[in-house]
Amino acid sequence: MKRGGFFRYIDNVVTLELDQGLCTGCGICQEVCPHQVFSLDHGKARIVARDNCMECSACARNCPVQALRVEAGEGCVRAIINELLGREGECC
Ligand code: SF4
Ligand code: SF4
Repeated sequence: MKRGGFFRYIDNVVTLELDQGLCTGCGICQEVCPHQVFSLDHGKARIVARDNCMECSACARNCPVQALRVEAGEGCVRAIINELLGREGECC
């Protein structure tokens, strides 16, 4: 489903987790995320658009304090659906 200029993946299946206690508010996750999943709020990252996450893991790989966890590729629902339908399709 296309929404707000990018694809939205299926609701409530994203494995993304943020430990705000570890977050230092450096903003790197916000910079590297291609789908604007994060905002910074009072010096901490906040997940504001979880269902837009495509589980590319760029945020988790770049977080300097390992405050983010995501199972890369698990949520590439579009690719899975395309495969089930026998279609070529974009993946994460
Ligand atoms: S990259 Fe990590 S430490 Fe930096 S704002 Fe994001 S969650 Fe917080
Ligand atoms: S895994 Fe990728 S799409 Fe999801 S929040 Fe992190 S950088 Fe954004």
